Amino acid sequence: MSEREQVVVNAAAAASYTVVCAHCAELDAAEGSTGSTFAGRLDLDLHHGMFLCRRGHSVRVERAEPPEEQSAADAA
Ligand SMILES: [Zn+2]
Repeated sequence: MSEREQVVVNAAAAASYTVVCAHCAELDAAEGSTGSTFAGRLDLDLHHGMFLCRRGHSVRVERAEPPEEQSAADAA
């Protein structure tokens, strides 16, 4: 169960994302097919989530920090 985990960073203002599962990309490359992309949704009030690709590999999605907060802190 300690399979290496893929982490994807989602844009701060985006609720949906499309990622390529790294495990599937390797499998697809070996098979000569391309089906490793999957789409998911991380609602704007959530900072992270766990998702499964179509083959069931776990992919962690983290939300990027909003840029406004950092620049506001620097200005103050
Ligand atoms: Zn996969």
